[in-house]
Amino acid sequence: MNPEDDRVESGYRELKRAAWLEVDLSAIRHNLLAMRGLIGPRVQIMAVIKANGYGHGIVRVAKTAMDGGAQQLGVAMLQEALELRKAGIACPILVLGCSLPEMAHDIIYNRLTQTVSSVEMGKALSEAACSLGKKAYVHIKVDTGMGRLGMDVHKTVEFVMELQRLPGLVISGIFTHLACADEDNDSFSQFQLDNFRKALGELASFGVNMGIVHAANSAAMVKYPEAHFDMVRPGLALYGLPPYPTASQTISLCPSLSLKARIVQVRAFSRGCSIGYGQTYTLRKDTVLAVVPAGYADGLPRALSNRGYVLVRGKKAPIVGRVCMDQFMIDVGHIPHVEPGEAIAIIGKSEDEYISACDIADAAGTIQNEIVSSLTERLPRLYVNE
Ligand SMILES: *Cc1c(COP(=O)(O)O)cnc(C)c1O
Repeated sequence: MNPEDDRVESGYRELKRAAWLEVDLSAIRHNLLAMRGLIGPRVQIMAVIKANGYGHGIVRVAKTAMDGGAQQLGVAMLQEALELRKAGIACPILVLGCSLPEMAHDIIYNRLTQTVSSVEMGKALSEAACSLGKKAYVHIKVDTGMGRLGMDVHKTVEFVMELQRLPGLVISGIFTHLACADEDNDSFSQFQLDNFRKALGELASFGVNMGIVHAANSAAMVKYPEAHFDMVRPGLALYGLPPYPTASQTISLCPSLSLKARIVQVRAFSRGCSIGYGQTYTLRKDTVLAVVPAGYADGLPRALSNRGYVLVRGKKAPIVGRVCMDQFMIDVGHIPHVEPGEAIAIIGKSEDEYISACDIADAAGTIQNEIVSSLTERLPRLYVNE
């Protein structure tokens, strides 16, 4: 056993259950270096750590990202930003989503930067800033075609002029979000970037300084150097999840998350037995089944029922029957002498094989983002290679 395994083992002994997430912090550092190599020294990196750091654990990822070369953090909502401040993280944090006007006081008090796409929110922040004797730093969100949050791109100048009149409010950035950066067809991304550049040009012609300009999520960061502007906003790439299938041709990423478990039961079954809730699986031959102590309450999609597989000693062991709330069954009839206590990979490496969050997502009919961000707090997180 190499020293690294030993550390994992000793960490494992402190866990109170037989399924856990292993987060390789050196992989996150590697991914930051790879991104830095791609974008050059002048573009800032905002590490996007919403949804509990894509399931990895928000505080540890935040610290690793800031130590590893990110300049800012991005979260989806105030709640997440407050968790970071509570943990003593003092760096710039942008709340990417909308907050409600009544949250303005907490936002200013905690020195958070808020995305703004309405005058009403701008006013609430301005008032809170004045009453606290502080400044409200905001980034303007422009909708260039995503059809979600943001100010209509054609009304950007008017909107910015109105915000500029609010006392205590400082516009420190402007951004947009691309709807199709991970798709094969580039034309819609180009359309959005054109819209964005037009709005920026207009603002410049009015002599408005908008601060930090940003547009690129992971896919756009890898694919479109012209979308880098002053800062990129990688989520997926930070965690080593390829933002689109051929991204590895441009950037070398290292996945940081594994989902592991120890088998808790191994039992022989005869041909014809039905397995699990609803009798959805019937054994076609005598075999050996193992029970894995993780289920949909941990974030494993129930859609993996009779579809997915896990890796046992580098071999694929198919999931049989329905995934339950706390456990699921696998067929290990083709793998000799599997015993309770044996560690398996649900996501991650097992001997020479690897099963990715993407493989799981494909089997469940979803995307890797949903798989990792759904992993619940019930799974202990074990940090390795700190
Ligand atoms: C989630 C998010 C990102 C990160 O996207 P990835 O595809 O994970 O890189 C960037 N920007 C915004 C506005 C987001 O909501």
